[in-house]
Amino acid sequence: MTRAKKMIDKIKELMWKPDKIRNMGIVAHIDHGKTTLSDNLLAGAGMISEELAGRQLYLDFDEQEKERGITIHAANVSMVHEYKGDEYLINLIDTPGHVDFGGDVTRAMRAVDGVIVVVDAVEGVMPQTETVLRQALRENVKPVLFVNKVDRLIRELELTPDQMQEKLMKVILEVNKLIKAMRPEKYDEWKLDVAAGSVAFGSALYKWAVSVPAMKDTGIGFKEVYDYIKSDNVKELSKKSPLHSVVLDMVVKHLPSPIQAQKERIATIWRGNVESPEGQAMVKCDPNGPVALMVTKIVVDPHAGEIAVGRLFSGTLKAGMELYIVDRKAKNRIQTVGLFMGPKRVEVSEIPAGNIVAIVGLKDAVAGSTCSTLEKFEPFEAIKHISEPVVTMA
Ligand code: GDP
Repeated sequence: MTRAKKMIDKIKELMWKPDKIRNMGIVAHIDHGKTTLSDNLLAGAGMISEELAGRQLYLDFDEQEKERGITIHAANVSMVHEYKGDEYLINLIDTPGHVDFGGDVTRAMRAVDGVIVVVDAVEGVMPQTETVLRQALRENVKPVLFVNKVDRLIRELELTPDQMQEKLMKVILEVNKLIKAMRPEKYDEWKLDVAAGSVAFGSALYKWAVSVPAMKDTGIGFKEVYDYIKSDNVKELSKKSPLHSVVLDMVVKHLPSPIQAQKERIATIWRGNVESPEGQAMVKCDPNGPVALMVTKIVVDPHAGEIAVGRLFSGTLKAGMELYIVDRKAKNRIQTVGLFMGPKRVEVSEIPAGNIVAIVGLKDAVAGSTCSTLEKFEPFEAIKHISEPVVTMA
């Protein structure tokens, strides 16, 4: 069996185990390393080749965007990660970072259950870090922290290991202060805890990371990081304490599965009656309930045409099924349903609740659309007044 076939089989198996799924986003102030981190997580998890990471796969995008990474234009990328002997399906959903795309950020936040907040170790917390953190907390999305560009503290600022730790602790303190101010009732549960491992430090560019739990296995702590960088041996550092394994371990351990998350989040992200049958189906992430799907992005595939990508909160999707596009008062028939393997779409026969899906056939859906097997279903987003421009990310 080829490697790709094996990976598809793994993903097909994991999609039926929602406790083994993590739906997450990466958010950051501009230039703090969101793209580099996304690409290198995907490459590290073996979902794209290392050489492609950071390079543009599809050449028909805007010229100015050509140099951006693979993940930046994908509505979702999926990877399989092993943690303590079990495999997990990690879906990284694109959460646009631009402040002027407010609506897109909000709807993407609705589709994820957790976020990695990336902060540049040199710059520290910046205004956009605050904005994206606020958006996540408002949508009841749990944050973990990756302090990036730690190499710069040693190479550019020439800090000693002690000064470096002091600076890093300051970043954590600042983010914790924000969590406390923005979401006081969640603070005890969600505050960043270095010892527990909800914070990792490293370099997305040089592909290494450390955390307290990882240190116990790898033996690599701040002092070792300092020595490896000073002796110009980051290759060895990234072999001994690889970025993807440290960061994805943190994701699996600290971000909730759809089962855990939907229990709590439905009341925040959906204005319908949570006690209704469709409300309870979503709270329970029930594959046998009515279909409740939120479209986060429409992407265009050269062969398949328009593909709606979104989060399935309840029900099971199958080809041939008819769905109401609730906010558009339309009814469309699903032609194919698919999942992601890395940035690639793989068609499958059916997909249950808790997953990120790619659907061909929902021709009336736009980014933000709510789709259901029920004609009367409270949409995830307030329906905009008809005279307001509809912005899509197609
Ligand atoms: P984004 O705007 O948050 O997506 O940031 P990018 O991933 O595009 O990174 C911005 C710049 O920072 C790029 O030039 C990257 O090469 C650089 N960069 C990213 N991670 C690191 C790192 O760990 N160390 C250093 N020194 N530079 C980095």
